[in-house]
Amino acid sequence: MSAHLSGPQRRAAFLDRDGVLNFKHPDLYYVLTPDQLELLPGAAPGLKLLGQAGFRLIVVTNQRAVALGQLTPDQLDAIHAKLRRELARSGVTLDAIYVCPHGKDACACRKPAAGLLLQALHDFPDIDPARSILFGDSPSDLEAARRAGIPAVQMGVNGSLEAAVRVWLRQQDSV
Ligand SMILES: [Mg+2]
Ligand SMILES: [Zn+2]
Repeated sequence: MSAHLSGPQRRAAFLDRDGVLNFKHPDLYYVLTPDQLELLPGAAPGLKLLGQAGFRLIVVTNQRAVALGQLTPDQLDAIHAKLRRELARSGVTLDAIYVCPHGKDACACRKPAAGLLLQALHDFPDIDPARSILFGDSPSDLEAARRAGIPAVQMGVNGSLEAAVRVWLRQQDSV
């Protein structure tokens, strides 16, 4: 490391989960079992591109089903173990998964609040938020990013993360 470099240097990609990494079923409100978690085809390739570009990979997800009593923390851990296992098959390792398990208006971490992102920036002080990026499929994702000072890309629900990443990386090259 050069001695004159100071402050955060690393870039991170923050990813919403449902509708960005895994299929958001129109008739299934929450993913409640590992079986219900189905990776979108563009998820692993998109994450791989970001990883190869040097980005930390951090998932930030609202899971209100926990507060509603539909999902236990253990079940959620099992779902995320499957997510990590499936991604590992493509050589992708997530740096962290941050979950808001709370109900509406009960905390400072449920997106659009910035709490999950601020916690990640606290835990990974090497991350430069202004040079990082968030990929989300809902306005609350984008609002959380805005509040944390992180640029964001809005994707369509169940859109291709790979396509969104390719477009965004090309834009970065041309700046
Ligand atoms: Mg989503
Ligand atoms: Zn919360």
